[in-house]
Amino acid sequence: MDCVFCKIVASEIPADVRYRDEEVIAFADINPVAPTHLLIIPRKHIPSLAHLPDAETPLIGHMAKIANQLANEEGIFESGYRLAISCGEQGGQEVPHLHMHLVGGRQLAPTLG
Ligand code: AMP
Ligand code: ZN
Repeated sequence: MDCVFCKIVASEIPADVRYRDEEVIAFADINPVAPTHLLIIPRKHIPSLAHLPDAETPLIGHMAKIANQLANEEGIFESGYRLAISCGEQGGQEVPHLHMHLVGGRQLAPTLG
């Protein structure tokens, strides 16, 4: 499959991987918008949040848990951070493989979009 994030999962293209388990991996965003900008993605190819099967709902909780853990490792757990999932064209999703952004390390704008 010609999916850049699947290729990162398969180690076919390089990434600054910060976390791996059986369900997800996390790596640095190639174009960071803040001092901390990581992406948490499922190993399995799910095109977007809108494609998440009901049976996979716990995956989102797991991704949020790993985001909290990474925020702690990044030293931004206390200062605050934002988790974001873009979904679909008007949601601004560019890579069609479900991913959660973890952004922090500076004061973020109060609004989204
Ligand atoms: P979104 O707009 O929510 O689909 O976010 C896609 C994100 O993936 C963007 O922030 C990109 O900078 C990031 N990205 C795209 N290709 C790569 C890559 N090869 N390695 C790391 N991050 C990437
Ligand atoms: Zn994929």
